[in-house]
Amino acid sequence: MKVVVLVGGVGGARFLTGVKAALPEGAEITALVNTGDDVWLHGLRICPDLDTCMYTLGGGIDTERGWGLSGETWRVKEELAAYGAEAPWFGLGDRDIATHLVRTRMLRAGYPLSAVTEALCARWQPGVRLLPMTDDQVETHVVVDVPGSEDERRAIHFQEWWIRYHAELPAHSIVPIGADEAKPAPGVLDAIAGADAVLFAPSNPVVSVGTVLSIPGVREAVRATSAGVVGISPIIGNAPVRGMADACLTAIGVETSAEAVGRHYGSRKADGVLDGWLIAPEDKAVVDGVAVRNVPLLMSDVDATAAMVRAALDLAGVSLA
Ligand code: GDP
Ligand code: CA
Repeated sequence: MKVVVLVGGVGGARFLTGVKAALPEGAEITALVNTGDDVWLHGLRICPDLDTCMYTLGGGIDTERGWGLSGETWRVKEELAAYGAEAPWFGLGDRDIATHLVRTRMLRAGYPLSAVTEALCARWQPGVRLLPMTDDQVETHVVVDVPGSEDERRAIHFQEWWIRYHAELPAHSIVPIGADEAKPAPGVLDAIAGADAVLFAPSNPVVSVGTVLSIPGVREAVRATSAGVVGISPIIGNAPVRGMADACLTAIGVETSAEAVGRHYGSRKADGVLDGWLIAPEDKAVVDGVAVRNVPLLMSDVDATAAMVRAALDLAGVSLA
């Protein structure tokens, strides 16, 4: 059995723990991971969503923070701050920096991000094939009016908008810069074409799943696969379960509701990407051409998450029996 999952960071990683738990031994799980959040800091290439997936599935994540490594210390950050050279809005832990050092050294030596990711995963053994959506540099930027400066409309890196400004600066638009010219990483299109089911994790529909779908060829592959395609709503009761996905949806003119996000993805029978859409028990959604089902959608523990995954696979026409 082959299952492909489009994911971002924290929401995607949690969902993948449920996919692993739900599937029988020997099943092949491929995660197509958003890299639009990636950023250069202090000369290091940081890949927040890839690392969140790798650390979570590999048992290294700090479970309280939800990102970064457990047992982390912050000496380098303190020393950088003493030079006034810190990016205060971005947490770089000492243990985490080793990952970025290895990644950056390999990238500089000419290895593509997909090969670097595979090498990093040799240590963490996530049990899932983690594929960056692309080996090309794509960075999501947000067009905002920068506070304190009259009329200064600028595109800032997504990470700066998200972490420094808590997505509170209204976004005029959100643009995955470089996506138009990017190619899917090796294995991405084949994984989608050869899957028994394609799932969209309850990740951010704009800056996680939306960015993966923005890589030329990915959306077309999802529309063309013989696998059933099922999405899971990150919106419950007209609000994101965690984080500020509502600010991203507002920026692209989509209401923050399970129904509006389902319609935004749309049906494969029309010009969309879904066959099925899972929403929470308290929500209602009618999406033309899409089978909508109500199931509990809180990823409170691995068992609850695995139950969501089983419901998604069932809707995708895959039998686990
Ligand atoms: P990020 O890259 O770390 O921001 O994480 P993702 O994009 O993968 O996931 C973020 C999304 O996960 C948010 O929009 C949340 O609403 C959603 N989310 C987080 N926890 C849950 C949960 O327990 N259930 C559901 N349905 N969605 C969740
Ligand atoms: Ca992310």
